[in-house]
Amino acid sequence: MEAPVLYEKIVNNELIQIENVPALVCRNCGEEWLDDETLETIERIFTQGVAADRPAN
Ligand SMILES: [Zn+2]
Repeated sequence: MEAPVLYEKIVNNELIQIENVPALVCRNCGEEWLDDETLETIERIFTQGVAADRPAN
């Protein structure tokens, strides 16, 4: 099933949190994982900065 999760990652010794990331959750063991498209979007956010107030080079 699909469920929004809180995604956390430490970047430059700073804890970055992204809320309401659409994840797939296993009904059996509760494991969460993200599909490739979602991961790409998240990586882009981390690369460009969460605030995204600066244009990327
Ligand atoms: Zn499972």
